[in-house]
This record gives sequence, structure tokens and C-alpha cells, in this order.
Amino acid sequence: MRRIAALLAITALGLPVSGGHAQTAVDKAAKAVSADVIQAHIEFLASDALEGRGSGTRGGDIAARYIAAQFVRLGLQPAGDDSSYFFRVPLIGYTPRPTLSLGGATLAYPGDFVLNPMRWDSLVTVDAPLVFVGYGIVAPEYGWDDYAGLDVKGKVVVVMVNDPGLHDAAIFKGRVLTYYARWTYKYEEAARQGAAGVLLIHTDESATYPWGTVEGSGTGQQVRLETAPTSLQVAGWVQRDVMARAFTAAGSDLDQAMTLAGKQGFKGFDLPVQAAATVRSTMARTETYNVLGRLPGSDPALAAEVVVLGAHYDHLGIAKPVDGDSIYNGARDNAAGVGEILAIAEAMHRADLTGKRSFLFAAFGGEEAGLLGSQAMIDRPFMPLYNVAAMLNFDDPNLFGRTRDVAAIGADQSSLLGALQAAARLEGLQVSEDSSAMFRGSFFRSDNFPFVRAGIPSISFQPGSNYIGRPATYSEKVKSEWTATRYHRPQDEFGPWYSVDGAVQESRVGLRTAIYAADASAQPTWDVDSEFRAVGEARTRPGQPGK
Ligand SMILES: [Zn+2]
Repeated sequence: MRRIAALLAITALGLPVSGGHAQTAVDKAAKAVSADVIQAHIEFLASDALEGRGSGTRGGDIAARYIAAQFVRLGLQPAGDDSSYFFRVPLIGYTPRPTLSLGGATLAYPGDFVLNPMRWDSLVTVDAPLVFVGYGIVAPEYGWDDYAGLDVKGKVVVVMVNDPGLHDAAIFKGRVLTYYARWTYKYEEAARQGAAGVLLIHTDESATYPWGTVEGSGTGQQVRLETAPTSLQVAGWVQRDVMARAFTAAGSDLDQAMTLAGKQGFKGFDLPVQAAATVRSTMARTETYNVLGRLPGSDPALAAEVVVLGAHYDHLGIAKPVDGDSIYNGARDNAAGVGEILAIAEAMHRADLTGKRSFLFAAFGGEEAGLLGSQAMIDRPFMPLYNVAAMLNFDDPNLFGRTRDVAAIGADQSSLLGALQAAARLEGLQVSEDSSAMFRGSFFRSDNFPFVRAGIPSISFQPGSNYIGRPATYSEKVKSEWTATRYHRPQDEFGPWYSVDGAVQESRVGLRTAIYAADASAQPTWDVDSEFRAVGEARTRPGQPGK
């Protein structure tokens, strides 16, 4: 209710909603979003011929070239490197072979632990004592500092997954995951504190993923962005029972420590346990590409600013067979998202519609390996980031049928909610909240997130939950079935179990939201209680006061 009240205030001011266009031009473009166009792109990109579009593979490169060819025919300008459509993403590829012992007891790999090097050397070693730091969070806005009074320099920190809100609705955001819950944050904070290693304690109930996911994604061939070295040498996960034995051997109790760590005023402590780790790997340089096309804005004062419409084109390539199929086609994840942004670009082209700000259509590589393509655009900024007004992300679109509503993760954090609400209303749709996606931390798990962390307001579209002609239970049922039987499996292939009708609705709302963001007099802003407000406000044009 609070946010709806805030929205009414925004619309009353006429800020994002009035736009600058005769509504007919936008209506014409929205109508021009074609189901056939979306479906044709999905069927091509998700065909076996593209071999699952793995980053840096032949199939992935064909997908990138296909998207660039579409950008050419839709009149988009090249916005990549050297006047091309391609933005280079240099990667390091390696396969880790780690060992780890705690207090002299050797752990089994990968049943007990998963460990990766945090610098790009063929042999990385750590031999240092453990420090228990609870959730490993420093969050001044919640009055929380797990590192207070501790010196972890050169030591190995033992960290819990998730955030303290998991067990106490009054702390942080309750069951809604904050960024502090993500393992990527825990690594970043440990590096800021000068630690040499990070061991996350894995429990199925606290993690938003099972041990199988840790093992599946943290072992075997890995790709990473080549980042500057920090104090961290190694980082990974240890099974809870295994870590509990190390605590017991040191005269401590892990269960008790974990309970205390969820309470205000928790104090971390040194453990008299030595961690000895080595990681051998053969490193090789490789690369992938983002495909970038620009539709110039019409207002000379605003055309230097962009609204990004992004979707990752990569998927998992050819991997372990499931039911006799080894091609991971990634139809919903995320040929469909690419189909949506291409259909939006085509609809704008057909209706001869531009925004006051420019649009940047971005098809990202390397998402499945950890948002690498989108992160690369922030690490080596594709343009001054204060000129990036907003980012709209399309990942895992609605292929389950027509709805009465749409949802977008991140709409609870910024004034983009106003643009989204207005856009949805014009399509006769409600905006609903996908709370299960918020519990899973979906906002931090797709290409919108590197933009968010750089302070750029962003939303990531999610399927609605109110399906036309279906019982109320359909949404929950079809989504959990999808997760169990198709998500990240070869079975995510295009067939009669998918329909693009919902994707058409989503694309029309996406197009209208993009136009609102492009035409508004000011860039969207973060809500006062958003954890990204500070970094967003710091992202100002040099010499200009904060927004
Ligand atoms: Zn995806």
C-alpha cells in the first residue's frame, strides 16, 4: 500500500507518465509487437543447430552473429567496440583441482567442499587459521557489522549463507533476500576486510540452491572475468556437517555459533583451527561477446543518455545428457528474452518510434557463468554510467500463456515502478509482486544486477500469476513443474508446452515502460529505503550536485 501511495504521488506530478509522445505512436508500436516474430527468433536460437549457445562456442558465436544481423535490418547503430556490434568480454577459463584440510583432517572433493582460486595463477595456496564471522555482513543501514573488532587479515573466514532476516522477520527484510545474502557479496566483503580465504557453510535449508548446484557449477570447467587481484587467494563452500566437525575438534559448537550469529550484537571469533588449501588449475584466455545496437534518441539534450533493454543470449551448450538429450537449448532461458527485445526493436522500427533518450539493445554473453557479459560492461564502461538512465532486463519470459498481470523484480526499489504501472495499465494489465522470486533473490541473479550494483535503476520482468482461462493454482503449478523438469536441462526446448502469447503481453509492457523511462524529464531514482540508493546517488555527472 505504501508503494501504491508513492506511485499516486508520482503520477499526480506527471513525472514519468505523461511522456512526450502522442500516445497513438506508442500504441501503434505496442500493437506492432508480433507473436510470429518472437516465436521465429526463439525457434531459431533454441534449435539444436545452435548447440545450446555456450559462451565461447561455435553455437554461441552463431547466435551473436544472428542477433547482430537482426540489429542491422532493424536500423540499429553499432554500439560495440571499434564501430562494430560486438563488445568484447575477455575471460579466463580453467578447471580447478583443489585440496583442503581443516585442523589436519583432509576433506573429500567434491563431496565435502568446492574451492576455486581467486587469482589467476596455476597454483594458489593458503595456510592460515579460521575466523567465524557469522553472516559476514557489514550493513550500516541495519546497524549490523559481523567484522567489528575482528582482524581477519591473511586469515580464512568461515561465513554463513543467506542473511539474518531468514529466521527473524524483524531483521533486514525478513524472508525477502537482500544483496547481503548472496555469496558474491560475502566474497566482496571478505576481500575488503583483507581475508586470504572464504569458506561458506552450505546448508540446504539456508541456501537458495542445493549442494548439487554448488557442485555442478563450482567444479569442472569454469570461466570468469579477469579481475584485478585482491587479498583473496581461494574461496568456496564446505558442507555444514564437515565444518561442524572442525568446530567440535576446536572445542566449539557450530550450531550454537550459527544461532547466535542471527542475533543483534553477535561477535565473531577466532578458531584454533588451521585451514590448508591448494588449488591447481591450467588457465587459458578465451573470450565472448555482447551484441549492442543503439536507436538514437530524438531530443538533443537527452540523446546522450540511454535506456538499456537487455537479455542474455548464452545458455549451457552441450553437457551431461538427460533422458538421452545433451543439447541444452535454453528456449525460455533465454532465447525467449532475446526474442522479446528483438520484437520490441522491430515494433519500434515498424512504427517509426524513437524515445527522447536513446535505446541500447543489449544481448549479453556469459550470463550463465555468473553475469559475466553484463558485468564486463560495467568494469569497462561502455559509456559514462551517469548517462545510463535505466536498465530493463528480459530473462525467462512468460511462455505459460496469457495473464491479467505482469510482474517485475526490482519494481519495489525505484521509481521505475511508476513507469511500469502506467505501461501495464495501458495494456489492461495489473502489476503484481512475485514474492517467491524475491525470496529466491532473483533480482541479484540476472544481468540487471551488475547495472544495479553500479547504481542504475533496473527491473527484470517476471511472468504474472493470474492466467486467463486457468485455475488459480495454475501459476504455481506450471512454474514449479518448469523448475523441476526443464530449468537448466536439455528439456528447456521449444515445443507445444510453451506459448508466446504471454511474451507478447510482456514485450508490449516492456516497450511502453522503455518509452516512459526514455521520455521522462528526469532519470528514475531509487526509493529512500533501497540498499542501492547511496551508490545510485553517487553516480552523478562530474561537477554536478547529487541527484
Ligand atoms: Zn537466464
